[in-house]
Amino acid sequence: MLTKQASVNPLDTHAHLPICTHAQNYCLAGCFPQEWDQIAEHANQAFTLGFGHHPWFASEKSHHELLISFLKHYSNAFVGEIGLDRSSKHKSTIEIQKNLFIDQLNIAREYNRPVAIHLVRSSALGYELIHKHYGPKVYLHGYICSVEESKMYPKAFFGFHLRMFQSPKTAKLLSALPMKQILIESDGESNPDHLLKTAAQIAKIKKTSEEYVILETFHNALRWLNIE
Ligand SMILES: [Zn+2]
Repeated sequence: MLTKQASVNPLDTHAHLPICTHAQNYCLAGCFPQEWDQIAEHANQAFTLGFGHHPWFASEKSHHELLISFLKHYSNAFVGEIGLDRSSKHKSTIEIQKNLFIDQLNIAREYNRPVAIHLVRSSALGYELIHKHYGPKVYLHGYICSVEESKMYPKAFFGFHLRMFQSPKTAKLLSALPMKQILIESDGESNPDHLLKTAAQIAKIKKTSEEYVILETFHNALRWLNIE
C-alpha cells in the first residue's frame, strides 16, 4: 500500500522473499518469473512491488509479455531486480544477461517505471546500457563503487545494506554522495534491526542524526518511485 507517511523505521527499499514477520515498510523486489506470483501476494503489505528477472537467473526463454502483464496489473510496481553480473560464477551467461537487461530496461522506460539494478563487475557496460535504454534516474542497489564512478550517476540512488560496511570503500562512497541519493535496504537480510543499524552507520558517516537519515532516505525513495 502506498502512503506518503514517513515512519520511525527506515523504509527498506530493497527486500526479497521470504519476508520476515517483523518487517514493516518494504519494497519487495522479484528476481525471476516463477516468483512473481508470490511477490504479488504481498500487494497489500508491501510499500511497493517489483518484478524483474535477475542476471543470476538469466535464461534464453523470454518472459517479455509476462513482465508487461504484471506491470499493467500493478500500476505502482517497479522493474527489478534486473542487471548484469560478470563475477566468475555468472560471467558465462553475460550475453544472455545483456539481452535480458536491455529488454527489461526498454519495458521499464516504455511503461514509465522505476528500476532497481544489480551491477557486478560490469561498470562500463552497465553505464552504457542504462543510459542508452533507460535514463540516469536509476536505483543501483548494494553497489560499492569508486567516488569517481558515483559522480557519473548524479541522478541515481544508491542503496546501502549492513554487510556493505565491511568494505572500507563504502564509507568513502557515502561521505562523497549527496544525502539525496542515499537509500536504506536489507537486500533480503531478515533481521529488521539491521535497517536501524544501517541508518546509524550512515548517520555517523554523514555526521547527522539517525532520524534525519531515516526521513531523508524515505523522501529519496518517494522520488525514486516517482511519488514525490
Ligand atoms: Zn537483491
